[in-house]
Amino acid sequence: MNENGRVLLDVQDLSVEFRTGDGMLEALSGVDFTVREGEVVAVVGESGSGKSVTALGIMGLLGNGRVSGGRIMWDGLTDLATAKPKNFRAIRGNDIAMIFQDPMTSLDPLYTIGNQLCETLRLHRRMSRREARTQAIELLGMVGIPDPDSKVDAYPHEMSGGQRQRVMIAIALACSPRLLIADEPTTALDVTVEAQVLALLRDLQRDKNVSLMLITHDMGVVAEMADRVVVFYAGRVAEQGSVDDILQNPRHPYTQALLQAIP
Ligand code: ADP
Ligand code: MG
Repeated sequence: MNENGRVLLDVQDLSVEFRTGDGMLEALSGVDFTVREGEVVAVVGESGSGKSVTALGIMGLLGNGRVSGGRIMWDGLTDLATAKPKNFRAIRGNDIAMIFQDPMTSLDPLYTIGNQLCETLRLHRRMSRREARTQAIELLGMVGIPDPDSKVDAYPHEMSGGQRQRVMIAIALACSPRLLIADEPTTALDVTVEAQVLALLRDLQRDKNVSLMLITHDMGVVAEMADRVVVFYAGRVAEQGSVDDILQNPRHPYTQALLQAIP
């Protein structure tokens, strides 16, 4: 679909290792893939195959892990794996946003969602508290929160799981990212809400030309939303290609098994 867009993210030969009690564990080895402007790239693979570590590596959130090889090129210029913290924060905060599986782990229970949205908005753009509040309400409306004028003053626990995930998407959008990384964003939601949240992500991608790196284990979602698929297996990219190519002509045994599992 967007094969000719410019390459925003270019992960090259990426390896990541973690220091554990028993020594070093290599979680990623030689991972290569790209995300182009306006493209939806699905990342699939069994549990433990390195999907989240890849996302966290891009975000610089590896904790006790580190990039042990390769590069994470952003927009052709900056290697996020070695960028100075200041440059890295500028990109991470403005150009790339991530939403996680469980919105309760990323929202602060002690602050209203309006407060959390305003904080993000004011961190990224100069604006008064009043302007930030108006924009926060607008963003909540945009992600489909009913009655955003009053919900802006709600605390996270006063919302449903689906609403909390919409709030997380609103917070991610508050920094106007060029790339949104969504790590199994609907796993904690029930099926009808899942469809709504995915539709929201797809609309945002289409309307705002945000690139989407969508980590999922649902091949139905892949078929419906993605332009390209990257299949992880045991910390490596087993294969990648266009959705049609991967779905119709899977080469790796793991991908074949994954496709057979679809009801
Ligand atoms: P998934 O594909 O399910 O998202 P992950 O990317 O979370 O898999 O994990 C890939 C591998 O890295 C797994 O073997 C996991 O145990 C390991 N791993 C992830 N985070 C850490 C960590 N903080 N410390 C040690 N090992 C980790
Ligand atoms: Mg994961």
